[in-house]
Order: sequence, then C-alpha cells, then structure tokens
Amino acid sequence: MYEKITPPDAGASIIFKDEEPIVPDNPIIPFIRGDGTGVDIWPAAKKVIDEAVATAYGNKRKIHWFKIYAGDEACDLYGTYQYLPEDTLKAIKEYGIAIKGPLTTPVGGGIRSLNVALRQINDLYACVRPCRYYLGTPSPHKYPEKVDAIVYRENTEDIYLGIEWPQGSEIGQKLIDFLNRELIPATPEHGNKQIRLDSGIGIKPISKIGSQRLVRRAIQHALRLPKAKQKVTLVHKGNIMKYTEGAFRDWGYEVATTEFRADCVTERESWILSNKEKNPELTVEENARFIEPGYNTLTPDKQEKISREVEAVLEAIWESHGGGKWQEKVLVNDRIADSIFQQIQTRPDEYSILATMNLNGDYLSDALAALVGGLGMGPGANIGDNCAIFEATHGTAPKHAGLDRINPGSVILSGAMMLEFMGWQEAADLIKKGIAKSIASRQVTYDLARLMVPPVEPPLKCSEFAQAIIDNFQS
Ligand code: NAP
Repeated sequence: MYEKITPPDAGASIIFKDEEPIVPDNPIIPFIRGDGTGVDIWPAAKKVIDEAVATAYGNKRKIHWFKIYAGDEACDLYGTYQYLPEDTLKAIKEYGIAIKGPLTTPVGGGIRSLNVALRQINDLYACVRPCRYYLGTPSPHKYPEKVDAIVYRENTEDIYLGIEWPQGSEIGQKLIDFLNRELIPATPEHGNKQIRLDSGIGIKPISKIGSQRLVRRAIQHALRLPKAKQKVTLVHKGNIMKYTEGAFRDWGYEVATTEFRADCVTERESWILSNKEKNPELTVEENARFIEPGYNTLTPDKQEKISREVEAVLEAIWESHGGGKWQEKVLVNDRIADSIFQQIQTRPDEYSILATMNLNGDYLSDALAALVGGLGMGPGANIGDNCAIFEATHGTAPKHAGLDRINPGSVILSGAMMLEFMGWQEAADLIKKGIAKSIASRQVTYDLARLMVPPVEPPLKCSEFAQAIIDNFQS
C-alpha cells in the first residue's frame, strides 16, 4: 500500500466519529522527525512521551510510532523536490493523528510552505496555540504567571493564504483594471477610490463556514475548561474591514447565541442582565443608557435600536440566564485586534481563548508565546474534523542542528497536547509537571539558561533536559 514506508506490525488506527477521535489503547501514530534540529528534538520528545504513557498506564497503553517523511529527509528518500510524498499524506489520512518536528521551507518544487500544505490538504482549519507560563522561565513580562491563553487561529483562508499576484503581472493588472473600471464605481460606498496601477494584489476571503467552524471548536474547548477560564474572545479588525473581519465577529456571535445558546452569554447580554439584576425596576431605556456609552448623543432611531436590543435580550434569555445564571455560562466577547495586543500585556489574566482569523492569529500567537518564554516553549496543533497534526511552533534552527543543545520543549509540549486530545490526560499532566519542575529547579537548555538570573552554567543538553523532565514526573 505504501511505496517506501512500512507501518508498525502492532497497533490500531485512531478513527474520528462526530469530529472527535476514538483512540484505542495501542494507537499507531505517524511522526515526521523534522529537518535541522528535528534530529535533536524529536528523539528527546519521543522518549518523554513514551515514558509518560508508561508511567501513567503501565502496559495498558502504548503508542506505536510510524516513521513518515517530509522536508529534506523526504527528498533524500523519495527524490528531488519530493518534500511531501504521497506515502506521508496517505499515512496521516489513515491514522488520523500525527506529530511533527520543524520543516525547512522548500526552495523550488512549487510548494510554498510544507506546513501550510499539510494544513490545507487535511483541512486542518484550527491552529491551536496554548500559551501558559512555567514558573522560573525567563520572561520579558513583569507578571508572566498571569498569562494563560489559547489562540484558536483559522488556518484555511484570509489574506495569509497567499492568493496574490505580483505588481506588473498580467493577471494582477487585469484585476486592478476590472476593479477600477467596474467593481469599485458600481459600489457607491467606495466613492471614487482607485487602486494604484503599480500595486501588488492580495485577496482576503473570510467565509461564514470557515469562521463558524473555528468559533464552534473554540467554544467547545472553553466548555472543557475550569469555570473561571470559560471565556472566548473574538479578535478582529472589523471596525475597518467590515465584510471580512467584521463578518467574522458577527458570525462568531451567531454561533454562540444559536448553537450554544444554553451555554453562552455575550458580554453585552451580561451587562443587560446584570443591570436588571441590580435594579429590577430599571426601565428598558435606562438599561440601554447603561450599556451604550454616549447614548445621549445618539440619534433617536439609534437609541430606539438599542432599546429594542435590550428588550429582545431580556425576552429571550432572562428566564434561562437571568438571576446570576449567566455567570455560569461561557462568556463570549470581542476585541479589536490592535487593542488585544495591548491587553494581553496589560491585563493578560482577563483572557482565556482568543479566536481569530489567520493573519491576526499568526501575530497574536507569537506575541503571547514571547510573554511566556519564547518559541522554544510554545506548543501547537492543527486540528480538523477528521485529522489533527501536532507540531513544534519554531523553525528548524539550522545552526544548532545535531549539536544536542536546542530546547525540545515546544515539541514535547505539543506531545502533551496530543495526549490531551487523545483523552490520555494523566500522561499529559505528567509531562507538564515534569517540565514545570525542571524549569523551576533551573534544569534548562541554553536558550532559557542564558536569560535566567543568574545565568545557569552549564546549561543542560537537549537530551539531558528530556531526562530531567522524566525524572521530575513524580518528584
Ligand atoms: P527558527 O528556525 O525558528 O530559528 C530562529 C532562532 O530561534 C534560532 O536560531 C534560535 O535562536 C531560536 N530557536 C528556534 N527554535 C528554538 C528552540 N527549539 N529552542 C531554542 N531556541 C530556538 O527560524 P528561522 O531560522 O527563521 O527558520 C529556519 C527554517 O525553519 C526556515 O526554513 C523556515 O522556513 C523554517 N520554519 C519552519 C517552521 C515549521 O516547520 N513549523 C516554522 C518556522 C520556520 P538563538 O540561535 O538565538 O538561540
């Protein structure tokens, strides 16, 4: 069935039912070692994951690893430009869950990015990046322990997808012409805007289906968190990009207030309900005045609209959510993208799950990772309805390759995420505990060691860090 790889003799497939994995006790999990420092971090991560499973479950559970190829390693085995062989795609499809190290971005061969290709081919629409602080990790933030957020980044659309044409290209020119001559003049709200003829052009599609399936997963995740963390923030730049980013926000709220009506309350609804709880005699108009700053300066029809909103909320959910019951629900709010970059720094503890589109999510997940110790510690997952790939979030760091010195934390924590996704929480918890204890006792690799005060000398090697994590499972 495969051209150049052979699945392990023992083990069974993970299958997906109703968008959730059904995991046997002996799953076969394909892994891509990764290029560059993949040779260091993957063996370290595999050892930690295997030890955690053995410690948590004895002989009852075991992962059967299946080596598959991508990146430079794939070209060595399959030939020039064979960065992503058919075998690899087939194995991921067959076994459902895979884990990978970093991959070099190909030069030539027609693939823009292997990571993006893997996400698109498998329709892995949610890129999930948890950012939590491990005590003792050097951080540029004064109170990094307040950061505990998970970014849900849409993976399959937005301008970042790369549907674009260079300046001066034939199609780019045609498109500019068509827009300038026909589409822009036919849209009165665009006035007499024109696109400069020497522009490059990129397309930013944001769909309702794409937005809503992402927000749905984010809310489902929030429902599994402890009560205090049950919050989903829709991050967008909808004040400017109304029909893309603004629509994302509106579609997100639609999911929250229809599919998850019994479980969710929006921030605005929570204000309306709590205003009435504080003063049951409050009139609709007084309530409207409280929720809308500047109410008095609005035109009468806008004031009327807000009053109708108050009325509609009280009628729809006072019974189910009023009397303080809303405090038990998932709180769904939204924030403008630029302000959230401030707020994750100034008020990080107010945020839990941040759901957003591709480009915002890219920036936001790295910004959050920086607050808790940088990319070496940031895990990631790409999740779809029938497949999930867990991955190191950093690149191949080629100058450190083969030196047994790089931090394997990102891929190890991705392994912990994978175990959680599989429902093997006990093993995941051991890994997180081992990492927490190792860092707190200053057993760290060079990247963290050099930033600690005083610096740790000598730092642990990559393989020694993995062993420290294992030694700290139980201590
Ligand atoms: P990079 O590989 O992430 O490395 C840049 C620097 O970040 C390293 O030199 C190192 O800094 C630090 N770093 C990265 N991983 C680390 C780790 N595990 N532990 C500690 N420090 C770590 O970025 P790049 O050099 O821009 O990219 C190299 C290649 O990777 C490119 O081909 C790029 O396209 C690819 N890439 C792949 C992925 C992926 O597969 N997911 C993601 C990003 C980039 P110091 O040397 O200062 O310690």
